Formats: sequence, C-alpha cells, structure tokens
Amino acid sequence: MPVATFVKKDEKTLEMSCQYVKGVGPKRALLFKKIGLETVADLLYFPPRRYEDRRTLVPIGKLKVGEFQTTQGRVVASGIKETRQRFRLFQLAIEDRSGVLFATWFNQPYLKDRFKVGDHVILSGKVQWYGRDLQMMSPDYEILIGDETDLLHTGRIVPVYPLTEGMYQRSVRAILKNTLDQYLNDLPEFLPSEILEKHELINLKDAIHALHFPEDLEVLKKARYRLSFEEFLILQLGLKIGQKKEVSLCRERAYHDLPHLTGEFTRFLPFTLTGAQGRVLTEIASDLEKNQPMNRLLQGDVGSGKTLVACAALYLAIQNGSQGVLMVPTEVLAEQHTATLEKVFTPHQIRVESLVGDVKAREKKEIFAALADGRIQMLVGTHALLEEKVAFHRLGMVVIDEQHKFGVMQRLVLRQKGFRPDVLVMTATPIPRTLALTVYGDLDVSVLDEMPPGRHKVETYWIRKNKLNDAYHFIQQQIQKGGQAFIIYPLVEESEKKAFKAAAQMFRHLSQDIFKGFRLGLIHGRMRAFEKNKVLYQFRDQELDVLVSTTVIEVGVDIPNANVMLIENAEAFGLAQLHQLRGRVGRGSRKSYCVLEGDPKTEEGVKRLQTMVDTQDGFKIAEADLSIRGPGEFLGTRQHGLPEIRFGNLLTDVDIIQQARQEAQILLEKDPVLKSFQHQGLREKVEKRFLEKSLFLKAG
Ligand code: ADP
Ligand code: MG
Repeated sequence: MPVATFVKKDEKTLEMSCQYVKGVGPKRALLFKKIGLETVADLLYFPPRRYEDRRTLVPIGKLKVGEFQTTQGRVVASGIKETRQRFRLFQLAIEDRSGVLFATWFNQPYLKDRFKVGDHVILSGKVQWYGRDLQMMSPDYEILIGDETDLLHTGRIVPVYPLTEGMYQRSVRAILKNTLDQYLNDLPEFLPSEILEKHELINLKDAIHALHFPEDLEVLKKARYRLSFEEFLILQLGLKIGQKKEVSLCRERAYHDLPHLTGEFTRFLPFTLTGAQGRVLTEIASDLEKNQPMNRLLQGDVGSGKTLVACAALYLAIQNGSQGVLMVPTEVLAEQHTATLEKVFTPHQIRVESLVGDVKAREKKEIFAALADGRIQMLVGTHALLEEKVAFHRLGMVVIDEQHKFGVMQRLVLRQKGFRPDVLVMTATPIPRTLALTVYGDLDVSVLDEMPPGRHKVETYWIRKNKLNDAYHFIQQQIQKGGQAFIIYPLVEESEKKAFKAAAQMFRHLSQDIFKGFRLGLIHGRMRAFEKNKVLYQFRDQELDVLVSTTVIEVGVDIPNANVMLIENAEAFGLAQLHQLRGRVGRGSRKSYCVLEGDPKTEEGVKRLQTMVDTQDGFKIAEADLSIRGPGEFLGTRQHGLPEIRFGNLLTDVDIIQQARQEAQILLEKDPVLKSFQHQGLREKVEKRFLEKSLFLKAG
C-alpha cells in the first residue's frame, strides 16, 4: 500500500541520528546526546526554555540604559583591543541617524572577519554606559545581506534553549532552522482529525515550526497548547492501555465476615486505632465488598501509621483464603515489616516470610515452592518479588509501601502475579490532585490525616559546620539521659564506594575521638542485608547509642527510642528526603530533635533548610518542594517509568489533562489497543514514549 510505505519512510528519517542534520555532525551530536536529544525527531520536539521578544527595533538614540533591547545600524568601525589583563576584546561601532552604539565581545577575535564596515546589522543585548557612549556587551547579532527578511537571531521572537557546556544559542538556533528546513515536511500528523477539530488544535507541522520560530505570541500559545494536549493524550493512553486488563473486571472471590474480622484484628493490637486509621479501614472494607477489585492510594505523613492499615487489609484478605504480598523499597524495611507482620499475624497462625535480593538460592527455592502451593500466606519483599519465578497460589491482596520509590510499571508487574487482586499503594509524599490523576491514573485516595497519640514535635535546628562540635556534645547529653541518635551522611560522592569510604572514615573519627566510651554502629548501602539488619537490631535493642548511616535508613525505619537525628551536609539532600529522614525520630515518648548541619551555596539550598526548620507538615513541605523544584523533578517521572512531561504543566494544566483523559477514554472504547490503521501513528507515539515498551505490548 503506497500510503503505508510513505509513513514508514518518514518514521525512518525522523528516527535517524541528528548528526545528519546540516550543521550537527558527530561532535555536536554527542553534545546533544548529553541533553537527551538523539534523533531528528528529538530535535524537532526540543522545547526552548524561554523566548526573547526582539521584534521591536529601537533607534540607537532611543535605547534605554539597563534594558535588554534590539536595534539596527551600519558598521562604521571595528577592531581588536587588548586589555591590561590580557583579554582580547573585539569592538564594533554601529550607527543610525539617531546615534552611535558600541558592541564588545571578549575573546572572540574571529568576529573581526565576520563584520565589515558598511554591513547592516541588528544587535540584541543589554544596553550599558561605556564611558560617555552606549554599548552592548556580547550582544546577539545578525548581519543582513541584501534585503533578507529571514531573521533568526534578532528582529523576531527568538528561542532560547536549555543547553550544556560547549553549546551556543546561536549555533543551536541555526541547527534548528536547518532541521525544520530539511525535515519538517516529513513530520506526519498523527492526531485524529476529530480531536484536532473538537479542541481547535493547530496541526503538528505548524506547531513545531511555531515552537521554535513563532511569528507572534498568539501562534506560540497555540503551538504550546497543541503540544501539551498531544503529550497528555499520549500519557493517558499509555496509562489506560497498561491498566486496561486489570481494572473494571469483577473480582474472583467475594469477601465474607468483614465486620467480624476487623473486630478480631483490632482486638489483638497493643493500642487502639487512631480515628483516621479507623476511617480508612472502613473505606478499605467497603472496597472489598464491591464487585470490582480495590485500587486505592493511601496517603499519610511520615509516622501516621500506614503499616497498621496495610496489616489490616492483608489480614482481611488472608482470612478470606487469599495470599498477601507487601513490597517495600529497601531490604532494611522488608526486614522491619516482616517483624511487625509476624508480631501481628502469628497469634492468628498466619505464616509470614520475607524475600530480598540476597536470600540464598536454596532458601529461595523453598520459599517459591511454599508460595506456589499456598503454605506461605504472607510474603514481604523488595524488588526481588518482581522476579518471574515468584508465583503465588492465590494472591488476593497486593500492598506497595513507599510507592513513590517504585514505578507505575512495577506496580503492574506485581499485580499481574495475582488474578484481579486488590491493590493498596501507600506513600508519605502528598501529591496534588492533577499529579494524582496523571501518575496514579484511576486510584481512589484515602488520607491518614492524624498522628498516633503521644507524638511530639521534632524540634529542628539548622547549624553551620563550625558548630558541629556543639551538636556532638548535645547528642552525648541526650544519650546520657537514655536517648539514642542517628548521624546521617549524604551520598555526596559520585560512587557508592567512595561514599561508603567517607561514612566509614567519619565513623572511625567519631568512635575514636568524639564519642569515645559510647557505643557506635555503622550502616551503609554496601553491606549485605543481614549485616544491615544485625546493626539495626542492635540499635533497636539499645545495644548501640549512635547509629552512623548513609541514607539507607531513609524510609520507614521505626525505632521509637531514638530521639536525635544529626544530618551532616544537609544541603546535599532534597526536601522530601530530609522530611523522610527526620521522620525516623519523634516516634516515641521522648522529646526529639533534628539538627541539620549545612552551608548551602545556593538560594534553593537555603530555602530547603529553612523550610525544614519552619514546618513539620508533610503537605507544606511537599508544596515548598514543588515550588522550589518544579513538578518534573518533584515527581521524578523518569523513575516512575512515565514519559517525561516537557510541554505541559502538571500543576496548572488541569483542564488539558482532564480533556486528554476523556479523549483517551473515547479512543480506547472504539479501538482498545489502537490497532486500526488510522491510529497507527498514535500507537507508535505511545509505545515510543513509554519506556517499558514490552509491558505495554503485553497489555495489548
Ligand atoms: P508510617 O505511616 O510512616 O509508615 P508507621 O506505620 O511506621 O508509620 O507507624 C509509626 C509508629 O506508630 C509505629 O511505631 C507504630 O507502631 C505506631 N502506631 C501506629 N498506629 C498507632 C496507633 N493507633 N496508636 C499508637 N501507635 C501507633
Ligand atoms: Mg511506613
């Protein structure tokens, strides 16, 4: 079919390495790769960071000092000057009827051959005083030849790209121009025309052209809108296709006896549920009464008691004859949750096992066998659970703790190990509703908005490095009063090996000099799981006074007697991480403290530490985090296995996200996995943007 071959050819050209674009070549292709651009299509879709409006040409006599402006004139003189510090300056003087303007560039003597007296030039730059004359330092320039109107760098709305070292706006702009000239015509429209019409979207070629070289702000806005829409549509399609098989199907087995079992569960607990825990438990129980499997997200700040809620859900499933699984991001946490579950479940004769990366092969085999025939009712583990060999007899309840540490796809893989199981995912990272819609697709949301009783505020201080000894002294005092302390070092080194060395070195220094006579332990990422746990148990059983650690204890670790946390080089941590770390203290009845030592070099760093001192509210911290870092980084979308959001804004584009969701729904109702020829282009886009293609295809 001629049409089909035509589409194929386009795809090939656009997927070609960008080195074949005029002006790129192998060297620049490597630089582009550094910023994530490899193919011709990547270049076409490369969003500028911002734009500069250089359309208004101001006569030289009307230029305003201090402002960024654009002007034009004829070159009247040029030359190279050497400064006393041996800098070579290239200087240019241009003139129009209203005045003279100088332009100066450092260390670019080759410019001398570029400008000739009499040339008509346009300059864009910040206007300054130069003695009693006006000048622009390193302005962007354009030399007009004949009556050229095809301006690139000045005299128009000019794109400014996010670049890396060794790349220059001028050359990248020229390359983008070449890319558009050479390849824009190969870019096929892939959105169905109904959608284009209904949402008044401009076509792809116009949008990509306007993205780089917009004629005016109006068309730029339309281009951005179209590209955001397309981006969110692809995202929603990918998510929905991935989930399709699982949701909206009836559960296999009905639950019985829920009220009775819930009562049974709480009777054995050493404390009463908080109001919020009780409420969430009711929400979960009512999910379990429905015909469709549960799909619930549980949000609750660090320390709000999510584990117990998970236990209850797992208990209900297991007592109804299912198996339960709990996935956590670290081995330390797996061990801790196993211990907690054993305590709660053993009185009910429920067998709990744990599976982490370094369980011995023989033991693993035994676990696999007991799991497959149902003797193990409850399995706790890390990513190791995702292995193909892990197969259940009748998995009915899937719980994922610290969901933000996993990807969407990992959640799906675990779920596929059961037959339409109920799913509960938990996170301490509160996310705005738009993000929830995007990242968590069709989950219902429960919130634990109440802390267990007897919690104190963690008093938080920020100190500079020169006050570190005071902090050590304070820790000693707290230990003498019966408390325990964490001292945390960041993974500032580029390799884990080096980081371990740094922590080990500090450990020696602390045990030999500072905390002589106290009992110190060290825990870091390069230890085997059982070694880590050994140290952690010693600390829990109060055989150690101080636990020196890298961030391996970041999530979930629960040791109520520990009441001081000192975080060194705290400026190296992100806000979410600091909040998680601080959540390790303030879990018992002792008054608790968190000391952040840091000399941040950036304004952001200062803001982060100040936020930690100012509030302990997870929602406020997440908000601050979001505003400091922006949504892309905040979510770490790459880690989630989701395509990166480049055009849309996850925070403000609520309307577009909702419309895109609706359109995705409509499209998939007609064509569940986009198989029809008409949707081929769209399908290819979705496959390409989702990193884990194999899983996507499996779902199809
Ligand atoms: P997170 O939500 O951070 O996972 P955890 O589940 O680790 O919190 O709970 C934190 C601590 O609070 C644990 O020591 C747990 O035993 C305790 N806890 C949980 N629920 C209650 C409750 N209802 N009353 C008292 N303590 C509780
Ligand atoms: Mg937890």
